[in-house]
Amino acid sequence: MAKKNSASAKKGKFVYLFGKGKTDGNGGMKPLLGGKGAGLAEMCRISLPVPPGFTITTEVCTYYYDHKRTYPPPLKAQMQAGLASIEKQTGKKFGDVKNPLLVSVRSGARDSMPGMMDTILNLGLNDQTVEALAKKTGNPRFAWDCYRRFVQMYGDVVLGVQKRPGEDHEPFELVIEKLKHDRYHQDIEDTKLTPDDLKELVVRFKKLVKDRAGKEFPASPWDQLMGAVGAVFGSWMNDRAIVYRRKYNIPSEWGTAVNVQAMVYGNTGDQSGSGVAFTRNPANGVKEFYGEFLINAQGEDVVAGVRTPEPVAQLNKHLPKAYGELERIRQTLEKHFKDVQDFEFTIEDGTVYMLQTRNGKRTAMAALKFSMDMFKEKLIDWKTAVMRNPADQLDQLLAPVFDATEAGKAKAIATGLPAGPGAASGQIYLNADRAVAAADRKEQVLLVRVETSPEDLRGMIAAEGILTARGGVSSHAALVARQMGKVCVCGASALEVDYQARTVKVDGKTYKEGDWLSIDGTAGKVYAGRLKTASSEIVAGLIEGDEAARRSEKFKSFQQLMKWCSDATRMSVRTNADTPEQTKNAIAFGAVGIGLCRTEHMFFEGDRIDAMREMILAETVDARKAALAKLLPYQRDDFAGIFRALDGYPATIRFLDPPLHEFLPHTPEQQKDLGKKLGIPAEKIHTRVEQLHEFNPMLGFRGCRLGIDFPEISEMQARAVFEAAAIVQKEGKKVRPEIMIPLVGFKKELDLQLEIVHRVATEVQAEKKVKLSYMVGTMIEVPRGALTADEIAQSAEFFSFGTNDLTQTGLGMSRDDSGSFLPHYAELEIVKKNPFATIDSTGVGQLVEIAVKKGRSVKKDLKLGICGEHGGDPDSIKFFEAVGLDYVSASPFRVPVARLAAAQAALAKAKD
Ligand code: ADP
Ligand code: MG
Ligand code: MG
Repeated sequence: MAKKNSASAKKGKFVYLFGKGKTDGNGGMKPLLGGKGAGLAEMCRISLPVPPGFTITTEVCTYYYDHKRTYPPPLKAQMQAGLASIEKQTGKKFGDVKNPLLVSVRSGARDSMPGMMDTILNLGLNDQTVEALAKKTGNPRFAWDCYRRFVQMYGDVVLGVQKRPGEDHEPFELVIEKLKHDRYHQDIEDTKLTPDDLKELVVRFKKLVKDRAGKEFPASPWDQLMGAVGAVFGSWMNDRAIVYRRKYNIPSEWGTAVNVQAMVYGNTGDQSGSGVAFTRNPANGVKEFYGEFLINAQGEDVVAGVRTPEPVAQLNKHLPKAYGELERIRQTLEKHFKDVQDFEFTIEDGTVYMLQTRNGKRTAMAALKFSMDMFKEKLIDWKTAVMRNPADQLDQLLAPVFDATEAGKAKAIATGLPAGPGAASGQIYLNADRAVAAADRKEQVLLVRVETSPEDLRGMIAAEGILTARGGVSSHAALVARQMGKVCVCGASALEVDYQARTVKVDGKTYKEGDWLSIDGTAGKVYAGRLKTASSEIVAGLIEGDEAARRSEKFKSFQQLMKWCSDATRMSVRTNADTPEQTKNAIAFGAVGIGLCRTEHMFFEGDRIDAMREMILAETVDARKAALAKLLPYQRDDFAGIFRALDGYPATIRFLDPPLHEFLPHTPEQQKDLGKKLGIPAEKIHTRVEQLHEFNPMLGFRGCRLGIDFPEISEMQARAVFEAAAIVQKEGKKVRPEIMIPLVGFKKELDLQLEIVHRVATEVQAEKKVKLSYMVGTMIEVPRGALTADEIAQSAEFFSFGTNDLTQTGLGMSRDDSGSFLPHYAELEIVKKNPFATIDSTGVGQLVEIAVKKGRSVKKDLKLGICGEHGGDPDSIKFFEAVGLDYVSASPFRVPVARLAAAQAALAKAKD
């Protein structure tokens, strides 16, 4: 956004005129004039029909609060001059008893802000000017209608005559109701009120004001004006506005502007009206005039919902000339602003007036279509088109969707966090085994758990969607859902999940296993029964090879956008993937390698977990080696599959990382089962589990500490990688393994593991008679590793920032335990954003910067990437671009988001 335009913001100038004659401001002056004021000025500059007026700057707001709620002395004279200018342009006079000028007083922060004072219309009316207005227009009903509206609005927003605690109705509405009953003994429509009724209303309204506010309603137009201006500035510090600013990080120094503008009247009769419109459809992006209007109404009526507005196309029937004029304005606006505009207009006796314009809010679908269409229309260049697509909304385009009409009819029975966007419905199952069995029977499955753990992985894979009663957006369920692109709602606390009874109680009903539920992971909603869904055309085209989908406009537009991203980006985007299928998906989405392959996930599939457990329970090195030998072929096959899917792209493979207890069963029954399977007494298993118990597993026996204590584990993993590489290389494909040692804080840790890796590499190359090219590097994920990066870089061929653990260890805050205090921290603004979702760039970011600098001081070309969850977060990606990383890595379905964010970060940097 344009900065405070100091060239035009003249010292001591507090009032900026706009109108036909002279316009002081322009569209780039939002900080000084507010969004509304800047927009009005810009529209005047391009000769659109805007009623004349002036803007009191945001600097006056700042002054007002710095000086005990007083105004800068020159303000009064400047406002008087502003009024004189309006008078000259309209031929009316403020407070005149022949041809009175009425104005609106409108607040205007940089962006429209709920909590600010409502607009006041028809200001300048009193017992004399109302008669003049009636006479001048020959329309007493209109004049008195304006007057009663004015007294009502002013009484409400300036004098504070509002509903009191415990009252059900607005006091002014009660007065209207009483008058209707006194005079007609029934409820009649407002439009049926006669001039005489309205006159009586004004009298009663004023009495209400006197009773409630303890003072007379101001009759002097100037006093009315100053009262309204003071109310706008006063509202900047009211509770609602403060809460809103806090939520969206808007500094209170910004202040609000005030716009004072000549009234135009949409309520003079059938040739008049008011409306709001978009230059294109903001929901689906179609290039059509979109909006609504009311005949014979003032602006507030359209949004107030008192009467139901008509679609703007209908205006062509009622007032074809005005419609034609609006069409012309619609095109002028787009040509000038080069973006879709959301605007407000009023028609007075057939003449169109513009009252506001701003960039329209839009869905992801609309943003994509707007950007493509406007590029084709040569309104914008391709770089602007890339910037016009909000990266954090892009996944809306990939999500499966509920049939819109069905969802409209259904009732949500619970809500949770929208953790995996999209829509899914299925028969519910409460454990992974039964979910898998049901999926094998070709059932559509929804896995419902209190929360999930690695043991549930197979069930999660089998399910269409995942629903949990506990856990936040960084819970296991949410993480896995993102990685797999699964629909997920987590933390739906209204669910009572009973594993024993295999039921879910919610909303007064009990659902058994096999019953249908539907979840909307974009909105975080749970529905009873089965709602119909369909894949997004983008996913259908890229992943499912659906040819019809590939011909759709949505698909083509998406592909075009992604191509532009490739042209613009400096960083590349890899993926976090552990299976060939995830890898294929990610490559279809444009990933150019794997940034993190978590080898432990492979140990959970099928029977492998048994061999893994055997390895952990082994009491001698030989026994451990025997168990590892069983795992070797599995890992080798997995890696081979991944290398094939990568087809020449590099793969960063992390050696075993999690604490071993995560692989063992914890309940006596499970331990008994495992004992039977392995022929070991259950007590022994129990004892080993006890031995492995850690008070703080996150900081315990894990990461490279495992491979250092049990070198045979690293040896097996290295062998699996290199043997797989040899196999696939012999098939004629290029293979580029990058072995990554986790949790390194000391150079020596890395060196010990390096020795093993290089030795095994030499062995395998000799055995298989191949020459392999590979790299060995490390994760930087503990502060000591970052601080000694210059030492570590002597041994490491690359760094990958494990920002999940670097955040945990840098903040000294365990992610899984943060749920109990982090939400409160966010409320208090101790943290601006969840540091596990968006990198804490001022704190943890420094560790990254230090490691980048120290690492590259030793190796100029040290390859640097990031593989934490932050790799899919647009704000974090901006930071990674700034510190100069080579790539980010994101879960497969986040790859497009990361590509867009990386491209935008590069484009934004080039502009600075
Ligand atoms: P908001 O910020 O809530 O949109 P506005 O200041 O835009 O509030 O005012 C709301 C509506 O009041 C406008 O859309 C318009 O219909 C009406 N309005 C404001 N100023 C005038 C005016 N000078 N003449 C006629 N109608 C006006
Ligand atoms: Mg408005
Ligand atoms: Mg880690």
